[in-house]
Amino acid sequence: AVLDAARDAEPGCVVFVESLAAAAPDPTADGASGRGSPSALGWLLDRVRGHDTVVVVGETTDPDAVDPALRRGGRFDAEVRVGVPDPAARRAILDVHTDGVRLADAVSLDAVADRTHGYTGADLTAVLVDAATRAAGSAAGPPVIRQRDLEAALDAVGPSTLRDVSVQTPTTTYQDIGGLDRAKREVVRTVEWPQRYPALFERLDAAAPTGVLLHGPPGTGKTMLAKAVAASTDANFLSVDGPELMNRYVGESERGVRDLFERARRLAPAVVFLDEVDSLAPARHDTDTGASERVVSQLLTELDGLSPRGSVAVLAATNRRESVDPALLRPGRIETQVAVPIPDQDARAAIFEVQLDGVATGRIDTTALAAATTGYTGSDIAGVVREGALLAMEDHLRETEFDATDASGLVVTQRHLRRAIETTAPSVDGAG
Ligand code: ADP
Repeated sequence: AVLDAARDAEPGCVVFVESLAAAAPDPTADGASGRGSPSALGWLLDRVRGHDTVVVVGETTDPDAVDPALRRGGRFDAEVRVGVPDPAARRAILDVHTDGVRLADAVSLDAVADRTHGYTGADLTAVLVDAATRAAGSAAGPPVIRQRDLEAALDAVGPSTLRDVSVQTPTTTYQDIGGLDRAKREVVRTVEWPQRYPALFERLDAAAPTGVLLHGPPGTGKTMLAKAVAASTDANFLSVDGPELMNRYVGESERGVRDLFERARRLAPAVVFLDEVDSLAPARHDTDTGASERVVSQLLTELDGLSPRGSVAVLAATNRRESVDPALLRPGRIETQVAVPIPDQDARAAIFEVQLDGVATGRIDTTALAAATTGYTGSDIAGVVREGALLAMEDHLRETEFDATDASGLVVTQRHLRRAIETTAPSVDGAG
């Protein structure tokens, strides 16, 4: 029917097929469902070939997921890549969308275009809509967009190409972290002080480290520490995973790094948290085409470009310190290393205190619990407390014959936690 309509249309017709990868998935790809009907599309393309007045245009975000049988001469024989717009293209997009919109004299669309790396056309439209909403909210009469509306809109609307970089304002405090006294002290001195007391560093001509590497087994509180720094300095927290950076931006990972730092500078004071930074090391990516080298070199450029009294702090985390690219760890880069170890007996008791804070409990002996959990990490202990709570609920439900209307008798006891410890094991091997 599509073909008939297209053939009869005067003077000609463009058939637009949206989301080709869904309409005609590569049948050899993992998880391809085989629904859609690639052969029908192939059939259509083969028929269209005989009609000079009909053109088929397909669209996809991932050309490699499209049935290769369609991507050949006679079918889809031309491929055009529509990339993320560069500054000039962004300026042109802004011009189009501000046609007929009232802008204050001080507004510089060039400045907006310069500052919007990674923003797509749709993102820029969202920025303008957001700015117009702000302008409308603050004035009577027809809205006039001011530069400050645009700035606020830019902070509110991030580039969708960096969507997986979440910006948070964490509420974690140092008190939420049990133990890790040395690591806390180190992080406070090297990351928090430069942000909080720049004058002291100036007076003693002391350099703040550009970046800090937190290293230790998984679940020991590295992420918590980074969040606590951000919270205590009122900084924005931008977190990105090394593997995500490598995989999400195939061929463009270095742009991901650039956008990340660009965004951090815009949101300063900011803490950039690079989790699993070891995954950026070339050794682990010998199959790819130098993507990790490009990412690391872009990261070095960004680190080298941070101002020494910068309001952007970089915290990296790894549980494989030996695999981190040594170039990243040189002076002037991620130069300070802070160990985040498996908690000792005292630290475990402190973590039990923290994790049980706010939980209805009977009398708890955290020293005894700590003695029974050698080798457990903070996250293992959080798991014990979670399991203890479930055991307590189980008992409560049994005792009340599944009447949950009155929870006042429900408490977690030492015995519940003991039982929870018996059913769990430390997550990290050879710890102690
Ligand atoms: P990492 O980043 O080292 O893998 P996280 O900081 O993400 O570990 O910790 C995971 C969870 O484990 C935390 O959300 C918290 O509930 C718990 N946890 C880990 N370490 C501690 C700690 N030292 N004190 C209190 N809770 C902790």
